[in-house]
Amino acid sequence: MKTSYSPEQLKDPLVAQSEAIMRKCVHCGLCTATCSSYVILGDERASPRGRIYLINRMMKNNENPSRSSVGFLDNCLTCLSCMTTCPSGVDYVHLIDMARARINKKARRKLSSRLTRSVLAGLLPYPARMKTAMKFGRLARPLTRSFEKLGLTSIAGLLEALPQKPAHSPRYEKRSPAKGKKLKLVAMLPGCANDLLRPSINEATTALLSRMGVEVIVPSGLGCCGAIEHHLGEQEKAIRSARRNVDVLSKLHDEQPLDAILITASGCGSMLKDYAHLLRNEEGYAKRAADIAELTHDVTQVLDAITMLAPTQWSDIKVAYHGACSLEHGQKVTKQPRSLLSKAGYTVLEVPEGHICCGSAGTFSIMQPVISKALLTRKLNNIDKVEPDIIAAGNIGCINHMTKKSDIPIVHTIELLNWAYGGECPRELKHLESRIQKISGVMVVSRMDEYQ
Ligand code: SF4
Ligand code: SF4
Repeated sequence: MKTSYSPEQLKDPLVAQSEAIMRKCVHCGLCTATCSSYVILGDERASPRGRIYLINRMMKNNENPSRSSVGFLDNCLTCLSCMTTCPSGVDYVHLIDMARARINKKARRKLSSRLTRSVLAGLLPYPARMKTAMKFGRLARPLTRSFEKLGLTSIAGLLEALPQKPAHSPRYEKRSPAKGKKLKLVAMLPGCANDLLRPSINEATTALLSRMGVEVIVPSGLGCCGAIEHHLGEQEKAIRSARRNVDVLSKLHDEQPLDAILITASGCGSMLKDYAHLLRNEEGYAKRAADIAELTHDVTQVLDAITMLAPTQWSDIKVAYHGACSLEHGQKVTKQPRSLLSKAGYTVLEVPEGHICCGSAGTFSIMQPVISKALLTRKLNNIDKVEPDIIAAGNIGCINHMTKKSDIPIVHTIELLNWAYGGECPRELKHLESRIQKISGVMVVSRMDEYQ
């Protein structure tokens, strides 16, 4: 893209970094067809290329963007499908992040939007506050339609996102020792939403890894990864969250060298893997943040590096694998979950239009409920076409979002793997137990490669 910024303008690091990214765009438009917001809205301004133009205009003229431009920058899901498609390597994610940080400083959003954003930034990263909010939210749930009619769609979206029933308290230890010989030591960031909404994910993870000779530590003092604040454009708060986690994890790594930092929520995984970028200008943090990012792996990357020779059961169960955007496009982890599920005896089905987002996208389903619902319907229709018994996904956001409307049970990939390798059957899948054949196999952990 031809850009023409003055040397004076380029002294602003935000402008200089944005300009360098935009210059790589060759306007080919290939990203448009794979853009999750464009497929719903059909408006060029709701596509990556259109948004790059809007950002260029905002930066170049140093102008306060119009409400309409802010709207188009806000209705990007940050699903990063465009980055997978782009032949030119445009670093769209950092561009939109910088644009949103600038909007937060310069533009005035609608009052309702500003209120919702501050409520979300003040609630979601804090599990204790969320627990209380969930109790009140369940009471207010019958008012969802009334809020919608009053035009308060984000409040309605927030109420809808809350689970119908409270989850049980997580039943895993802060330190799960390896059963038998200890082969590896990993630290796990449990993820704020996992333990609130679906504690069985981390329970299955610790149980499976422990049986495989991997000790799992959940260090005290960890907090939210910062993704919620980051995507809401609250850069300073996101940096604060990241610094706290880097302090805790690097101290632990100094005391007991870790083989990996493990994440079971791919939205959080993408964030930790980006700590090197987020903290690059923070004194005393750049190197440590890069080390933490390097050590961070999705749970399926860790498992894929362990040879599991024999599952203890086999089945004809068909699993539609839903590749969460943060895992597929954000972390480029595509092969491991599919291959682990197949090796564990499940028939893995590919979902048509798998690259398009389900509409969850962090706080997107709350802030943009209309587009989010359209994407959810599209996703579930595509899943129905392959007629699965189960849907598996690697991110709690997608699981929670799709569960609201899906008749097919949805579980985390790790819950299926834990079941196949001798662990508990997930409670939603009890009706499938008769389709399981037990095998008298012995699970052997023979090696642990470098993570891919
Ligand atoms: S991140 Fe997703 S919604 Fe945003 S421009 Fe890229 S493909 Fe479209
Ligand atoms: S695919 Fe990449 S280079 Fe092409 S228009 Fe989209 S962002 Fe620009």
